[in-house]
Amino acid sequence: MTPSPPPALSAILDVRLAGADATPVDVHLAGERIASVEPAGRREPAPGPVLDAGGRIVVPAFVDAHVHLDKALLLDRLGPYDGGLDAAIAATAAVKSTFTTADIEQRAQRVLEDLAARGVCAARVHVEIDPIVGLDSVHAHLALRERWADRLTLQLVAFPQEGSLRDRRTGELLDEAMRLGCDVVGACPYADVDGPGSVLDGFDRAQRFGADLDLHLDFTDDPSVHLVDEVCEQARARGMEGHVAIGHVTSLSAMEPSVAGPRIARIAAAGVAVIALPATDLYLSGRGAPRLAPRGITRVLELLDAGVAVSLATNNHANAFTPVTSDPLRMAWLAMLMTHAPHARWSDLLRCVTAHPAATLGLDVGVVAPGARAELVVLDTHDAASVVSDVPAAVAFVRRGRWHAPPQPRLLRPLAGRGLAQLDDDAIRALDVDVAPAGPVAGGDLHRAG
Ligand SMILES: [Zn+2]
Repeated sequence: MTPSPPPALSAILDVRLAGADATPVDVHLAGERIASVEPAGRREPAPGPVLDAGGRIVVPAFVDAHVHLDKALLLDRLGPYDGGLDAAIAATAAVKSTFTTADIEQRAQRVLEDLAARGVCAARVHVEIDPIVGLDSVHAHLALRERWADRLTLQLVAFPQEGSLRDRRTGELLDEAMRLGCDVVGACPYADVDGPGSVLDGFDRAQRFGADLDLHLDFTDDPSVHLVDEVCEQARARGMEGHVAIGHVTSLSAMEPSVAGPRIARIAAAGVAVIALPATDLYLSGRGAPRLAPRGITRVLELLDAGVAVSLATNNHANAFTPVTSDPLRMAWLAMLMTHAPHARWSDLLRCVTAHPAATLGLDVGVVAPGARAELVVLDTHDAASVVSDVPAAVAFVRRGRWHAPPQPRLLRPLAGRGLAQLDDDAIRALDVDVAPAGPVAGGDLHRAG
């Protein structure tokens, strides 16, 4: 029997929005989109199932603005390894020859399942391209993008981890990857033979293909490194404001405030988005420091104050760059600690994993507002401030206007003869969703209305 599709909701009732006042609201839906957000109880929802959130917090589904799936889950393959960025690149390069399309797809699939289970609705994925991997990873990701289209929007970046100029064949492969359907041009000037040349090569390629540009940039504790200036100049000169993003940019943290300040103003004026990668920045930075190692993360709060669209993203999962798996909300939690963000800024950090990355990727998600695609997460908390500090569990997902239960056993009642761990979304749908789960209800009860 084919399982019935998850219910299309007409409204989510009695929710509180993170970052707003505590007044409960109803979020009315029309198909895949949010129709209106109104004070709770003001009007009857349209006919159809509604989700009663019981006053819990609803946030936009998360957007992971920067992730590598093809290098994920590699810890058991790496040789003896200890060190910073260069060692991580070398250790990964050494196992790249073991990558196959099937192997990449398998590992990527596991990370995507994990991200989706943690409420992520879209991700910008950097796809490794060089003469060793060739286009294997591109082919794997093109298949994944299609397979995941109705669950998770994937934007693919043609990415040269060792730089685009080091080997002539890499540039040709990048061009071919764009022709095959990658969405965004990537660049990695700090790994290339000629940093400024690598920046220009990235801009040239992006313009040739009419695509956005996303650079791994200035990932160092050395304050004298500032290719960001060249990026800002090129973005303005070529009219690409709003179409360029830079990842890491940790050297900005190492600069004197009097030097970093004007640079931040230039980033804002050039419409360049910044993507901080807290877990990697923390793990790889300050390796040579004999004491008080720097935290590494870029100047997130000052960039936000200047009006820069800052995202916080996961980057890597269980590899030489980042030995842990994570998700965007956990990155907001970590960034809160790393940036010493006061309580009043926590809602800003939440926007760094929702509205800002959605804007950087050019997607109509990331906000709870009329017209946006209804991609939402109901969290198991009534306290907006706790979203970033406590990373509450999700109790319900809304994907394209349809209700999905998160794959968490805590939501489910035990069924005789069935292990909870075996229950996936389809199994949950096979339950009678009109009835709230027995026992301690975690929230997100589904009712029929109208
Ligand atoms: Zn990266």
